[in-house]
Amino acid sequence: MTTVTRFAPSPTGLLHIGNIRTALHNWLIARKARLSGEGGRFLLRIDDTDAARSREDYVEAIRADLAWLGLHPDGEERQSARFALYEREFARLVAEGRVYRCYETAQELDLKRKVALGRGLPPIYDRAALSLSEADHAAKAAAGEAPHWRFKLDHDTPIAWVDGIRGPQHFDPRQMSDPVIRRADGSWLYMLPSVIDDIDMGVTQVLRGEDHVTNTAVQVQMFTALGATPPAFAHEALLVGAEGKLSKRLGSLGLAELREQGIEPEALIALLARLGTSDPVDPALGVDELAASFDLARFGRAPARFDETELMRLNGAILHHLPFARVTAQLPEGIDEAVWQAIRPNLATLAEATVWWQVINGPIEAPLPDADTAAYLAQAAQAAAALDWAAEPWQQLTATLKAATGRKGKDLFLPLRLALTGVAHGPEMATLLPLIGREEALARLARAAG
Ligand code: GLU
Repeated sequence: MTTVTRFAPSPTGLLHIGNIRTALHNWLIARKARLSGEGGRFLLRIDDTDAARSREDYVEAIRADLAWLGLHPDGEERQSARFALYEREFARLVAEGRVYRCYETAQELDLKRKVALGRGLPPIYDRAALSLSEADHAAKAAAGEAPHWRFKLDHDTPIAWVDGIRGPQHFDPRQMSDPVIRRADGSWLYMLPSVIDDIDMGVTQVLRGEDHVTNTAVQVQMFTALGATPPAFAHEALLVGAEGKLSKRLGSLGLAELREQGIEPEALIALLARLGTSDPVDPALGVDELAASFDLARFGRAPARFDETELMRLNGAILHHLPFARVTAQLPEGIDEAVWQAIRPNLATLAEATVWWQVINGPIEAPLPDADTAAYLAQAAQAAAALDWAAEPWQQLTATLKAATGRKGKDLFLPLRLALTGVAHGPEMATLLPLIGREEALARLARAAG
């Protein structure tokens, strides 16, 4: 059977790191199924039933974020284009008495809740509206009162599912309120359209955040009421910050900010694919390897820690692996494959490539040496001019100078590095020197010698 997953954001804001993790995991599940030959599809479903809060620019931002990560959906659907289907399915539930009309105002419901709590009872909707007669409904209609609708939970069927992450789950429907599914103005709440869509789109696996666990309990009954078998459900633990607490920052941390910090999509994917498991994060793994080894059973129920410092470190490790072809378009003009190979071990972000490119290409500003060092550099300039630049010039240069001056270690190397690059650290001089080139290197040494 083909595995079908979906990512179903409401376009009422930008994606944050938690949503992105959910999207990635759903993508990985579908990808894994596809790689195994079973067949897998990953759908993007825009949950835009809330016309007042949904925005087109958010829809575009969601698409752009997924594209930047390389999480291309195999199909895209929008709930706002599917109202006719919801009406049809709703009509079936009306005919079967699985949804019912209610008129309580928010204040009345609030009062009912307080009374129940005051009596030490759970604040569950009392189903008062179920005892209204047709005449009562007619009178409400005549008075211009439109009903909202609730889904009638089946009190005689306990709710149970085996959660892919949380294990066996049990809910007693008698301890739950019949959920409102449709407002008095006819608009839909999230719960029912989602189930109708999951059935219609053949979704086999619903993976989402654990804030949806109680929704799932209700939705399990909705699947059954609509004559469908519920999909496999799994709920991921929430993300917390590095300090282990629920973090406001993570609730708003999106791709734009991470991109600005120089985070590459590969780094984010490598980290998020493993976040919530105790498996090590491995910068060397590509997406298909991450997909092949993705397993919900590896995920724990404890909150998953998202550590931005770890992400930054991982970003460096990832950059050190990236092939030239992957980064060509983002590099400054003039950087060729040899330069990329030389500088990538020193990068924490791709933007730093510009800095090293200038070190190679010039102009550089070298610090002023003292008299002793200046004399040494003059000697170096002479030696450099006499080298065979076709064969490991740095090794030749340092060997020559070592023999001629008796300098060694830092005294031998550092003045040369400073004169040739302007900075005290950086990529291997043996790699840099041929890239700087004979003419430019001689000029830099001569200039530094004064
Ligand atoms: N639109 C819902 C949300 O963003 C979807 C939840 C789900 O995956 O079913 O929370």
